[in-house]
Amino acid sequence: MMSNGKLKNAFPHVLAPLPYAENALDPVISARTIGFHYGKHHKGYVENLNKLVAGTELAELTLEKIIAATAGNVDKTAIFNNAAQAWNHAFYWSCLTSKGGGEPPAALKQKLEATFGTLDACKKALATAATTQFGSGWAWLVLDGDKLKVVKTGNADSPLTTGIKPLLTIDVWEHAYYLDYQNRRADYVTAVLDKLINWAFAAKNLG
Ligand code: MN
Repeated sequence: MMSNGKLKNAFPHVLAPLPYAENALDPVISARTIGFHYGKHHKGYVENLNKLVAGTELAELTLEKIIAATAGNVDKTAIFNNAAQAWNHAFYWSCLTSKGGGEPPAALKQKLEATFGTLDACKKALATAATTQFGSGWAWLVLDGDKLKVVKTGNADSPLTTGIKPLLTIDVWEHAYYLDYQNRRADYVTAVLDKLINWAFAAKNLG
């Protein structure tokens, strides 16, 4: 939609297509998991958000602006949760790629090594955050000012609410891994870090 010559976001929010086929990440993450995770969970967050903001002052704001406007507001918890989960999932899909794992691009690798010592130590920090997040949530590689950090958030929470720039995330809600790994969250996390994690996407986010 054009307005005053500038591109506008489309409202209501739409579920963006996956950046790959549902079976692209198999066998690390099965097509069945992606089918439910994207086609039911992610879709549900987008649809719920549209219902919740319809006719309100939030109806034509981007996800980022809705997240900023509702974070910490107890009267807007449902809107925050659905907007943040819509954002988190769209981001998560791009953090995975069938040709993932391996070596990060040189500039990112250098920054990771300066912060964590080695790439393996960075992966271990991400795995620890992912496996120690109690209950549902997310593990993140972030840029806080000019420093790389690993953080974890619960439920729908996001580093965006504290002005920290996400570079990568791993979804550790049970729906992300239970069909493939049952209770073995650590096996899912290790497999994602070794085989799917999209360092090129993190490097792009680093700018
Ligand atoms: Mn999820």
